[in-house]
Amino acid sequence: MILLDGNKTSTEIKNEIAQEVLKIKETGARLPHLAVIIVGENGASKTYVAAKEKACQVVGFQSTVIEYPESISETDLLKKIKEINENAEIDGLLVQLPLPKHISETKVTEAIAPEKDVDGFHPINVGRMTQNLPTFLSATPNGILQLIERYGIETAGKHCVVIGRSNIVGMPMSILMARKAYPGNTTVTLCHSQTKDLKTFTLQADIIIAALGIPEFLKAEMVKEGAIVIDVGITRVKSEQTKSGWKLLGDVKFDEVSPKCSYITPVPGGVGPMTIAALLKNTLQAYYSNNQ
Ligand code: NAD
Repeated sequence: MILLDGNKTSTEIKNEIAQEVLKIKETGARLPHLAVIIVGENGASKTYVAAKEKACQVVGFQSTVIEYPESISETDLLKKIKEINENAEIDGLLVQLPLPKHISETKVTEAIAPEKDVDGFHPINVGRMTQNLPTFLSATPNGILQLIERYGIETAGKHCVVIGRSNIVGMPMSILMARKAYPGNTTVTLCHSQTKDLKTFTLQADIIIAALGIPEFLKAEMVKEGAIVIDVGITRVKSEQTKSGWKLLGDVKFDEVSPKCSYITPVPGGVGPMTIAALLKNTLQAYYSNNQ
C-alpha cells in the first residue's frame, strides 16, 4: 500500500509556485493577489480561511481576508463582490461557504467574475470544465487530479466510483475522471444518497473517491483488493485522545481499508492540503491571464 501524501505533494507544488513568484518579483511587477470573504463565526470556515491565508504567505502572494458578521445583508455582500470584481489589483476571489441562510449561495457564486473565480464554482467555469476547455477547475477535484498525476497513477480504462454528487466535489470529480485527458479516461459511476446497494458498485471499482461527509462510511468489505482510494471527507468528531477535544475523520475506515489498497489518502494530510495547493495554482493562473 502506498500512502498518497498530500502534505508532501502540496509542499512540492507550493515550492514551485514560490519560485514563480520570485521570478515575478524580480521583474518589479505586482504580485498575485487572492481575496477571501468570510461571513459569520463558523469555526471550520475560519480554520480553512486561515490555512488559505497562510498558504498565500508561504508562496509570496498578497492576500486580503474580508470578514463580515453573520448579519451582513445579501445586497451588501454582492456589492463588495462587485467592487472586488472591478479591482484590477486582485486576481482571485473566493467566498468561503457555507453562508448564512438569508444569503443565496447561488447568487453569490454567480456574482463572482468568472475570470476571478479561483474556486471554479461559477456556472460558466463548470460548463467550460465539462467541455474540457481551459478554465479554473474547482479546487478539491483539481487537487485530487494533481495528486494522482504526481504519483504517476494510470487511470485510463479504469472504473472510478465517485460517492457524493455535490457541486463542489462529487459532480465535478465525476466529470473530470471521465474526460478524455490524463488523469481521466476512466469509466465513471456516480453514487449518491439515493443509490441502492452501493456496495455492488464500490466492489467493482478500481478507484473510489469518497466525498459524502459520513465518517468512516467506506468499510473493508466494500473495497476490492488493490483499489485506489481517495478520501475527501473531513468531519470533526469529539475525541478524548486529543488536547483540543476533537479530531478529524475521513469517509473511509482507514485502518481496515488501507491494507487492501494499492494507494490511499490519509485524513488529515491527503486531499485537504492538495485543495489549498490547487487554489494557489488557480490564483497564479488568474494572475497570468489578468496580466496578459
Ligand atoms: P455535501 O454534503 O454537499 O454532499 C454530500 C453528498 O454525499 C451528496 O451528494 C449526497 O447525495 C451524498 N451522500 C450522502 N449520504 C450518502 C450515502 N449514504 N450514500 C451515498 N451517498 C451519500 O458534501 P461535500 O461538500 O461534497 O463534502 C463531502 C465531504 O468532503 C465532507 O466531509 C466535507 O467536509 C469534505 N470536503 C473536504 C474538502 C477537502 O479539501 N478535503 C473539500 C470539500 C469538502
